[in-house]
Amino acid sequence: DNAQPKKPSWIRVKAPGGPGYNDTHKIMRDHGLSTVCEEAGCPNVGECWSRGHATMMIMGEICTRGCTFCNVATGRPDALDVFEPGRVAHAVHKLGLQHVVITSVDRDDLEDGGADHFAQTIRAIRHRSPETTIEILTPDFLKCDPSVLEIVVEAKPDVFNHNLETVPGLYPTVRPGARYFHSLRLLQRVKELDPTMFTKSGIMVGLGEDKQGVQQVMDDMRAADIDFLTIGQYLQPTPKHHAVERFVTPEEFKAYEKAAFGKGFLMVSATPLTRSSYHAGDDFARLREA
Ligand code: SF4
Ligand code: SF4
Repeated sequence: DNAQPKKPSWIRVKAPGGPGYNDTHKIMRDHGLSTVCEEAGCPNVGECWSRGHATMMIMGEICTRGCTFCNVATGRPDALDVFEPGRVAHAVHKLGLQHVVITSVDRDDLEDGGADHFAQTIRAIRHRSPETTIEILTPDFLKCDPSVLEIVVEAKPDVFNHNLETVPGLYPTVRPGARYFHSLRLLQRVKELDPTMFTKSGIMVGLGEDKQGVQQVMDDMRAADIDFLTIGQYLQPTPKHHAVERFVTPEEFKAYEKAAFGKGFLMVSATPLTRSSYHAGDDFARLREA
């Protein structure tokens, strides 16, 4: 039975449109850039884009993985575009962003998993917009030599984000190409390589996890010294994707947020519409002022 639970009243979003939205759209098109906002069909696109906040997705629109929650196409990706870091930097400058989030598809076809391309993108943004804080949301580099992580860390992003996505028990059905402890260890290594770098991770809920499992993931993240946490409701992009098992209530999100702060996370966003990059800049700016 593929019947999905009905969308509750708290999953309401602003319809995309308006001048700010159109400007962001145009800058992305003009620079030939993809965004995860569009690729993932993110419910916040109306709100974020009206403020110029778009999360650019580098290294193409085709992913070598096939996570069952994700709307990005799986297949054999195109060759890397050496001019992309420059175009991203130009777009970030035009958008006038204080904080930018850059993500990518997974590139198991590349020996370094795209680590050098990430580093070049960070440097290009830094060069053009030295005041902009840079957050990267990376793949897991599972098939690469562990040393490739150093290439990315040496480029000094301000925030290194990698999502655990779900509880370990759901990996085989949700994130079949990934390994929970590998992803956790990746973030721990980032902190070991550069203790001044903020690390961040997130999960989706409503996929079939239980509350105890979520608490365990938070504990595992803190044991790996992860600083920031995001938790949001999973929404099914198409009927072919993993089913929504349930809609977690706003009260339950509040309880997760409270528990997370209690466990020592520096920054927590846990609401139904929280996404990895949702309000990332505002939250980061507040933290830096504090
Ligand atoms: Fe894009 Fe992130 Fe905003 Fe969604 S939450 S529209 S992915 S910036
Ligand atoms: Fe989607 Fe990322 Fe999984 Fe690729 S690795 S299928 S882009 S979630």
